[in-house]
Amino acid sequence: MTQTLHIVGGGMAGSEAAWQAANLGIQVVLHEMRPKVETFAHRTGDLGEMVCSNSFRSDDHEQNAVGLLHWEMRQAGGLIMDTAYANRLPAGGALAVDRDAFSAAVTAKLINHPNIKVSYEEITDLPDDGHWIFATGPLTSESLGGAIQAETGADRLAFFDAIAPIVYADSIDMSVAWKQSRYDKGETEEEQKAYINCPMTKPQYEAFIDALLAADKTEFHEGETAKYFDGCLPIEVMAERGRETLRHGPMKPVGLTNPHDPETKAYAVVQLRRDNALGTLYNIVGFQTKMKYGAQTSVFKMIPGLEDASFARLGGIHRNTFLNSPTLLDSQMRLRSKPHIRFAGQVTGVEGYVESSAMGLLAGRMAAHEMLRAPLADVPQDTAHGALIHHITGGAEAKTFQPMNVNFGLFRPLEGLRGGRRGRKDRYKAYTDRAKACWTDWLAAQKEPA
Ligand SMILES: Cc1cc2nc3c(=O)[nH]c(=O)nc-3n(C[C@H](O)[C@H](O)[C@H](O)COP(=O)(O)OP(=O)(O)OC[C@H]3O[C@@H](n4cnc5c(N)ncnc54)[C@H](O)[C@@H]3O)c2cc1C
Repeated sequence: MTQTLHIVGGGMAGSEAAWQAANLGIQVVLHEMRPKVETFAHRTGDLGEMVCSNSFRSDDHEQNAVGLLHWEMRQAGGLIMDTAYANRLPAGGALAVDRDAFSAAVTAKLINHPNIKVSYEEITDLPDDGHWIFATGPLTSESLGGAIQAETGADRLAFFDAIAPIVYADSIDMSVAWKQSRYDKGETEEEQKAYINCPMTKPQYEAFIDALLAADKTEFHEGETAKYFDGCLPIEVMAERGRETLRHGPMKPVGLTNPHDPETKAYAVVQLRRDNALGTLYNIVGFQTKMKYGAQTSVFKMIPGLEDASFARLGGIHRNTFLNSPTLLDSQMRLRSKPHIRFAGQVTGVEGYVESSAMGLLAGRMAAHEMLRAPLADVPQDTAHGALIHHITGGAEAKTFQPMNVNFGLFRPLEGLRGGRRGRKDRYKAYTDRAKACWTDWLAAQKEPA
């Protein structure tokens, strides 16, 4: 009997997954709820609709981790990337597209594929058997969200993100900052030094609060309401509630002694916590924010020790349905409790069109190979796809898991290369060269398209 792969959600990830599986000879049914059921952000019934910006970000595959993902997807015959290139608009080093032409072309390619049937309907349950990929995105419908929560437990599916900025560890000035957990808590030295602390004097704190209050903020989109972030306030909102609020909240200076100046008590302390197993990334604890990106960089660089910080990602708060993937998914993106179901795209805790499409590409290939009884080897960790999937299914801290963009902080460091800003160009080129070689080998070992 012919087996069918069901893919739920015809956005970036679902469209790419369908294309990859269908090209391997698998019969695919792509279930998309639009235009029958709408979301607050989508405007059309097209597949692969871009809900906001028309850019796939940097196309530099030698010096940029997103550009490297582009390159890897193109090598794998990616639908989203190939269609983006075909509908490209001039945008300097970025890959920007004519959004309507782009989604119309994605829709036409999928509808006309002999192995794909598109079914316009909402799926509201997690099925008990068959082969399924759920790629329902940040705006997964309410009834399906409820069904996922019933399976995973309420605390493992979030309906909004609250992203604190993430800093590259090697860009923090440790002659100003120091490692220590409050009251030296923890059994091991590693736990007792789990946080990086940045001290502030009273004038520095006052100037920081003034800058926070004056900074440009983004508005919530229509349909995103404050109820999604109750209990997880942006720092600027905390500052608006009173100039001392942050000093009694995430910036409290208690239980810490600055080894660079042990006699002076800091007036406030900003703490950063390790964000990945590699120890290359740290997030600024409690600093979720709705400040505009430009404002974030200048305000956060006022923090002593972060004057030269490089940010792997900036903060944000959005309506966003996503799983606690490090605890729920295995390395092949299968739900551990129901392995006939995979998840893909933004719902797995990646962020952005490119990252979501990349996770769709992997899920489509993995499901197809499993159905062809030729399971895929795990994706090499030193590729951009591998760094990302490894992060969401294992490398990230499960307790504080928040959506992630691809960035070089997720890559395993290479020995013998110069650190810091000065060595960045050579380091990034070495990462991208290594990734390209691994990706090429991984693709070469797979089944050829039917
Ligand atoms: C308001 C907003 C603005 C954004 N702006 C940007 C941006 O500028 N740049 C960027 O890179 N990323 C942006 N994002 C993130 C972006 O949405 C994702 O990166 C990307 O679209 C995710 O791809 P996906 O395939 O996982 O989800 P989507 O592209 O959202 O696709 C999911 C699909 O599943 C369908 N679906 C949902 N539930 C069901 C169901 N029960 N049954 C059947 N179908 C269902 C939806 O209709 C949708 O078509 C934004 C997100 C939001 C919400």
